[in-house]
Formats: sequence, C-alpha cells, structure tokens
Amino acid sequence: ASESNLIRATLFPGDGIGPEIAESVKEVFKVADVPIEWEEHFVGKEIDPRTQSFLTWESLESVRRNKVGLKGPMATPIGKGHRSLNLTLRKELNLYANVRPCYSLPGYKTKYDGVDLITIRENTEGEYSGLEHQVVRGVVESLKIITRQASLRVAEYAFHYAKTHGRQRVSAIHKANIMQKTDGLFLKCCREVAEKYPDVVYEEVVIDNCCMMLVKNPSLFDVLVMPNLYGDIISDLCAGLIGGLGLTPSCNIGEGGIALAEAVHGSAPDIAGKNLANPTALLLSAVTMLRHLDLHDKADRIQDAVLKTIAEGKYRTGDLGGKSTTTEFTNAICDHL
Ligand code: NAD
Repeated sequence: ASESNLIRATLFPGDGIGPEIAESVKEVFKVADVPIEWEEHFVGKEIDPRTQSFLTWESLESVRRNKVGLKGPMATPIGKGHRSLNLTLRKELNLYANVRPCYSLPGYKTKYDGVDLITIRENTEGEYSGLEHQVVRGVVESLKIITRQASLRVAEYAFHYAKTHGRQRVSAIHKANIMQKTDGLFLKCCREVAEKYPDVVYEEVVIDNCCMMLVKNPSLFDVLVMPNLYGDIISDLCAGLIGGLGLTPSCNIGEGGIALAEAVHGSAPDIAGKNLANPTALLLSAVTMLRHLDLHDKADRIQDAVLKTIAEGKYRTGDLGGKSTTTEFTNAICDHL
C-alpha cells in the first residue's frame, strides 16, 4: 500500500502477553499488505491527572482522532486514586456496545458444531452504573439504570448490524416478567427499532430460557442484543461454546463511529514473556476492525489463514493442546496468506 492511502489506527499492545500477541497481529498485517499504519500507545507508568488513570490523555485522543483501534489485555495496577483502564476507555470513549462474534473454528472440536452467533451487549448502564450504597447496617442497595437513549442506541446498532451483515434475526434477551420497568423499557425500545427493520425477524427471549436454549442448541440464535449484565454473562457462555476466551474476538462501538476491537481474555501473567500465548483472539479482533473499515477482502484473507492454520492442527499453541510458540503459529498463518 502506498503512503497516501494508509489508514491510521491506534494500537494498545497492553500488558502481560499483550505485546507478544500484538507483534503477531503487526506481522500478519504486514504480510497481508493491510493498508493500516499503527499508532502505538502504551499504558503509562504514572497516573495522568487529566484522565485520573494510567492511560494518558494523548492515547485517548489518538482513538478519538483515528476512530479505529485495537487493544490488547490491560492489567489495572492495584491502588487507590485511579480509575480502571478498561473503565476509563469505556467512559471516555463512550463505548456503548460490545459486539462478540462467536463461530465454531473448523477442525477445532468442541461439544458444538456450526455455532454462528453474535452477542451485542449494552455497555454503559444497567447494573454496572456503579450506584451502590448502604441504606442501614445490613441492608445495601444497588441501582439498575436503564435509559431510553442507551437502549435505543444499542438496539439500533444491533438491527443495523443484522441488516448489513446478512443476518436474519435479532433476539432481545430480558427478564421483563420480573424487572418490569427496567427490562420493560429495554424491550419497548427494541420493539420500536424493530419496526424500522421489517426484513429482520425480531423476537424476545427470557434470559433463563435463553441459557437453556443456547446450551441445548446454539443454532437457534442469530444476533442477540441485551442489557449490560446479561450481556456480560451470555457473551462468555457463547465463548465457551466455541472453545473459550482465547479464541473469541470482540469489538467495542463508541460514540461518533469509534470502533475499538479487543481480545476478551486477560494479560495471562502465568505465560507472559515466554512466547506461548495464542494470538487468535487478538487477530480475529483485528479482523472485526477491518470489517468495520469495510476492508472485507483483507479481513477474509486473514480470517481464512487463521482458521486454516488451526484446522490443519500442525501448529497450535499450548492452550489448544499443541506445542507451538506464538512465533511458529504466527509464521504458519503468514504462510497461508
Ligand atoms: P487471563 O485471561 O489473563 O488468564 C486466564 C487463563 O487463560 C490463564 O491460564 C492464561 O494463561 C490463559 N490465557 C488467557 N489468554 C490466553 C491466550 N491468548 N493464549 C493462551 N492462554 C491464554 O485472566 P486472569 O488471570 O483472570 O487475569 C489476568 C490479568 O488480566 C488481570 O490483571 C486482569 O485484571 C486482566 N484482565 C484484563 C482484561 C482486559 O483488558 N480486557 C480482561 C480480563 C482480565
């Protein structure tokens, strides 16, 4: 790609295994000739008073400017007087929807075949509003906030996603039979948006029933949209259906068209610095970033190469039962490009 048509994207390699798996993404992108220029930002060593966090103002500005980014795992240092790194990103960039595609990796056997679903989680409110207090000794209260604005925004994103990705159905997951006001409002907003998308089938499924259906037969679902806490739980359940968090990509959608893709696993301190980490989740997250940029050709090529490498089974990292290093696995992917 020539200098002039390069797209700038922010890269947070993150902590622990982060830099190793980020290196793998950079290598694969280079070999696939992806027209991306990375702007690398690292978590700071000191608290930036402007963000009250170890993330600097400059790194947040970089995402705001570029509107696309990729993030490795971040380990928030323990101590008082600063905000968690992930919370800072979510609040400052207003990352309102977390999107996780979950599909079976061919050749990597799990209990389920042919899983192909998308979870879309509201990311800013619900039980995660952080409004908890003690009423009297022995009695505490936690506020679950659901707003029309945030519910419409995530519902709109889910239906738009379904329509633009050739998906047939959106299921709103809820417990409105008990949480009548909060989940009731969430559903009302989903219904309103559904009316604007007559080509997409809309259904409502109670969360407990949804769990049972997912475990019995994941192909009953297509796109699932839900409030924060349900999304947190269901998205991990779905990751489990296809082999765990080391394989699952995700992308956070923010205000003003920001997309910050991230692997959902942590910094894996037990294997950090040993060239043992599996870069699949971060690579597939980078693929969701490319799709967000409409670079579908490159996204398909990289996704195919990753899946082929895993399916072949010759080079697999330890978490998938293999003996390969991160570098060997990455080289095998590059050979498939
Ligand atoms: P973890 O995901 O880091 O590790 C859990 C287990 O999975 C470990 O045995 C680890 O070796 C393995 N694992 C994870 N990713 C892997 C990969 N790509 N390849 C191979 N093996 C992998 O979870 P944890 O130990 O609970 O958390 C460690 C740190 O990460 C904590 O500081 C936590 O706060 C942070 N964390 C960050 C994020 C994020 O930035 N989104 C998410 C979760 C945890």
